[in-house]
Amino acid sequence: MDNIKELHKKYVLPTYAPEQLFVKGEGSWLFDEAGKKYLDFTSGIAVCALGHCHPAITEAITRQASKLVHISNLYYNENQPKLAEKLIKQSFHGKVFFANSGAEANEGMIKLARKWGSNDGKFEIIAMENSFHGRTLATLAATGRKKYRAGFAPDMPGFVFVPYNDIQALKKALNEKTCAILLEPVQGEGGVLPAEKDFLNQVRKVCDENKVLLMFDEVQTGIGRTGKFFAWQKYGVEPDLFSTAKALGNGFPIGAFIVKHQYTSVLQPGTHASTFGGTPLACAASLAVLGVIQEEDILKNCNEKSKILFDALEKMKTKFNTIVEIRGMGLMIGIVLDQNAAPLRQIAANLGLLLLTAGENVLRLLPPLNVSSDEVNMALNLLEQAFEEFTKN
Ligand SMILES: *Cc1c(COP(=O)(O)O)cnc(C)c1O
Repeated sequence: MDNIKELHKKYVLPTYAPEQLFVKGEGSWLFDEAGKKYLDFTSGIAVCALGHCHPAITEAITRQASKLVHISNLYYNENQPKLAEKLIKQSFHGKVFFANSGAEANEGMIKLARKWGSNDGKFEIIAMENSFHGRTLATLAATGRKKYRAGFAPDMPGFVFVPYNDIQALKKALNEKTCAILLEPVQGEGGVLPAEKDFLNQVRKVCDENKVLLMFDEVQTGIGRTGKFFAWQKYGVEPDLFSTAKALGNGFPIGAFIVKHQYTSVLQPGTHASTFGGTPLACAASLAVLGVIQEEDILKNCNEKSKILFDALEKMKTKFNTIVEIRGMGLMIGIVLDQNAAPLRQIAANLGLLLLTAGENVLRLLPPLNVSSDEVNMALNLLEQAFEEFTKN
């Protein structure tokens, strides 16, 4: 299997620097080429929220793959409207556009906002510092981290940034050209930082008073990650449109954005499209995901395990001085350190626990939403061991 790593290095563009090679997954566990088991608290970056190879989803994919895979959006398919209906029932009166990734879903929202504003000469979008919205040129221009944009100048025009949770700065940035405000209800890549409730309420008010669209990026927070179906439901603040993607197919690529009924005629035939968006196969996978979330009471488990983890991590904080803060929502948890978190992540991986970082100083936990109590306890033990090793000197 060394051969595989060599092949990768020789032929795959080095935009990532992978270490382990995994050949199999089951529930919360991954297996490397030597058969070593790892407890996966990354869920493929919040994607495999129901664990690896959930049997109901594997079954739905294989069944649909032998029936009909792709026909283009020039024709109806059986699964797309059923999935759209389910997503609308979980959100608000409106309609859905299907894409394949988070960035593509966000691109669609940005286009809708510009199209909507174009009659009034409005095109500017206010985004947040430290945000992350994707790697395409428009979503990159909306991403509030200079590091990610470096070398790709000029930035696509029309985006301005304000500090997250700063309503005064946002009001100041607002002008007659503003068509929308874009934000993550909980910043993910930026450091697992939840919005303040009052901030979101104020943003909603500003949008209503100034005829500006409120757009939430729920690519990471959506589909149960925060303990509600969508994070905005946790806050009780409705956006005008929002995107989702990561967990929507449990690993089968699918993204979507959902638009309130007032704005469903902004995009007409010919104004926006996606060849692979909402194929029968992708929608079958996603329908199975939504089915499992309901049948297995996944949100309940998410909230239970969230509480156990937050309580235990607060205790761990009193034991290790390097821990500054525990923050997040549901099973999207950040352990803020007083130093770079990457070495700790490495130590945990060596112990058999896979974790992520967010920003520079935040260790990020994204376990599957159906993680068991035993697995949570195992992860906590391994994490404590990792902290002990990390703080030894
Ligand atoms: C991951 C992520 C994206 C980008 O999604 P891709 O599928 O990688 O394009 C956008 N926004 C947020 C909040 C994300 O976490």
